[in-house]
Amino acid sequence: MQETQTFPVDYCESCERDVLVARDLDDADEWVRICTRCATPLAARDDSRAYSAASLQAIGYTFEHLSGGCGSGGCGSCGAG
Ligand SMILES: [Zn+2]
Repeated sequence: MQETQTFPVDYCESCERDVLVARDLDDADEWVRICTRCATPLAARDDSRAYSAASLQAIGYTFEHLSGGCGSGGCGSCGAG
């Protein structure tokens, strides 16, 4: 049984489009949801969606950088290696 991976998506008013949502800590060490494109904090909403990889590609995301992942050693920016 294979589980389909999904990614949180929400609307960014700065980008004026649906964007992939990331999480980050704010100044108060509280988790906030931010836009992965412009890093603008996204308003808390109850209607955030979860997209499959195929659905994300439909709104313009590609997964060349995600499919390798940090575990493959291809990521030079995260410092996890
Ligand atoms: Zn944005």
